Amino acid sequence: MYNVKARAAFGATEPFQQTEITRRDLDEKDVLIEIKYAGICHSDIHTVRGEWGEVEYPLVPGHEIAGIVKETGTAVQKYQVGDRVGVGCMVGSCGHCEHCQDGEEQYCEGSNGPIDTYADVDQYGDYTQGGYSTHIVVSEDFVVRIPDTIPLEKAAPLLCAGITTYSPLNHWQAAGKNVAVVGLGGLGHMAVKIARAMGANVTVLSQTLSKKEDGLRFGATDYYATSDSETFKTLKNSFDLIINTVSAILDFDSYLSLLKLDGTMVNVGAPAEAAPVHIDSLISGRRSFAGSAIGSIKETQEMLDFCGKHNITPEIELISADKIDEAYERVLRSDVRYRFVIDTKTI
Ligand code: NAP
Ligand code: ZN
Repeated sequence: MYNVKARAAFGATEPFQQTEITRRDLDEKDVLIEIKYAGICHSDIHTVRGEWGEVEYPLVPGHEIAGIVKETGTAVQKYQVGDRVGVGCMVGSCGHCEHCQDGEEQYCEGSNGPIDTYADVDQYGDYTQGGYSTHIVVSEDFVVRIPDTIPLEKAAPLLCAGITTYSPLNHWQAAGKNVAVVGLGGLGHMAVKIARAMGANVTVLSQTLSKKEDGLRFGATDYYATSDSETFKTLKNSFDLIINTVSAILDFDSYLSLLKLDGTMVNVGAPAEAAPVHIDSLISGRRSFAGSAIGSIKETQEMLDFCGKHNITPEIELISADKIDEAYERVLRSDVRYRFVIDTKTI
């Protein structure tokens, strides 16, 4: 076992504290990764605060992990000591179900679904602890390679914000289409950059126009405030695809009215509350209301290579570990530009 340093939540709204956790000894397919950077995702906040269900404390969040391989198990084939690697939202899955067999482990139908990087129970019966830490042990099957052209601190947010937006844009074939991105936060700003690089025509729908210059710089051609009711009149029947990244419930019928015939609104934002939708909003334009969960390991590698090739990286604010509580407050106020990343040497 390895004793490693971490920052943990000791309660839903308690301040983060320095602690020590253990990582398992290397199994034959495991790699020990020295974590260099860990992104802060809004999902960390939903989880820590118990919004998605009860969790055990102390809890070390973090599923946007970038680091360096320090040791490898005896049967590891893909990675060597010194490799630049990442770990995202999953660290395991059953491996046998239809979706695991098809390389879509994020939809694993095993008894526990995919094993989340934190706040879950792994194949050894241990409670998983995430990336706000100096080291992690993960099976090589759930590790991806970071292209040399992407600095490690900028790679971290790609492991969740990047793949969660790349996957639906890829699945619903954004290229050449009119795509709206709702919410310009961590996921939203990646959606804009990736959709543009895929060849989509991108519009941002943000609460206000305060980030308009940024949105246009990231690759959007249009930018509208959703607080202005005229927006919904102007943009009626405009989009083939809407990617909703908002962490709260919206008036979904208003957004559905912005879709063209056969358009799809994909929700990646994951508020805890039920989402009310009038069926007529779907019937009237043969529209679809959909959702999407992160992306597979194979697709995560594909996304990293795509970002490396197209020079796509997130806008980050690098923080020390004692600033996690402050960062959470700023994310909750939509005051994030556009992803907080923890420099783990400060843990
Ligand atoms: P974030 O950085 O906080 O971005 C969310 C953005 O939504 C905000 O910046 C804000 O953008 C907008 N927003 C926030 N509250 C709003 C409200 N009440 N009404 C309208 N707009 C609001 O969060 P994130 O890290 O990108 O994560 C976004 C959501 O995706 C979270 O719910 C997270 O749990 C979820 N998520 C899902 C998956 C998945 O697999 N499906 C993966 C990762 C994250 P503007 O200021 O531009 O309006
Ligand atoms: Zn996330």
